[in-house]
Amino acid sequence: MKINDHTPSSMSVECPRCDAYIVGEPQGYLVYYDPQDGLPERWTLLACSRKGHPLLVVQEEFASGIPFEEDRPHRVWPSEGRDLSNLIPRELRKFHQEARKCFRAKTYRAAVVMCGITLEGVCLLGGSKRQIFTRYSNI
Ligand SMILES: [Zn+2]
Repeated sequence: MKINDHTPSSMSVECPRCDAYIVGEPQGYLVYYDPQDGLPERWTLLACSRKGHPLLVVQEEFASGIPFEEDRPHRVWPSEGRDLSNLIPRELRKFHQEARKCFRAKTYRAAVVMCGITLEGVCLLGGSKRQIFTRYSNI
């Protein structure tokens, strides 16, 4: 790879339609940079190697001369799901993240329990005295 050559190579990403990590084959890309918007970004349109599903990923250039490949491809579309705001207490974010992991792993009962714990945590932080799921947790 030449210095300053931004042409993307094949990359490993999760294809939600195949429900697996696949090799994404670049179909096109765009490098965008405006200092007011943050770091330089490379947006790459990929085709899933299994069935050709379209995927859009973005990678940032952490420093000048550092290739975009140093940044893990963040799948923008289909969305990986957004992170919760840091304004939400860390424990609640942790429970919510675990619920999402359970859902992705198709352990739906565990996902429901984790959603219940998350909601109960919200109630406890709001002043509720009643506990069902979080009796042994440290909210
Ligand atoms: Zn796919």
